[in-house]
Amino acid sequence: MNGASPALLFRLACAALLAYARWPSDVAFHCAFKTLTGLPCATCGMTRAWIHFAHGDVGAAVVQSPLGSVLFVVAALVVVFGPPPRTWRAGFAPLWIAAGFALNWIYSLATGVA
Ligand SMILES: [Zn+2]
Repeated sequence: MNGASPALLFRLACAALLAYARWPSDVAFHCAFKTLTGLPCATCGMTRAWIHFAHGDVGAAVVQSPLGSVLFVVAALVVVFGPPPRTWRAGFAPLWIAAGFALNWIYSLATGVA
């Protein structure tokens, strides 16, 4: 096989995201959904949660975005151990992921933290 495998690329992408959370740039991201509606989207607050987590403030990360905190840990596990096996990703995993985003969105709407 020529080139890097998808698993290696996924690990590198996770590592890059974790590095960004540790050393974020001054570039500010603006959520188009929040700009248009005034309401947070399902992923609002995740970048700030990752930055909190990467700087050791787990409590602030969880308050900012519970799902973002979980995804930070998942990304770290992917960097160390690689992506989960294909059999794990099939089946109920997409439902759990969709439920996680839905619950995170409800949390953001209810608390207004994001
Ligand atoms: Zn958003």
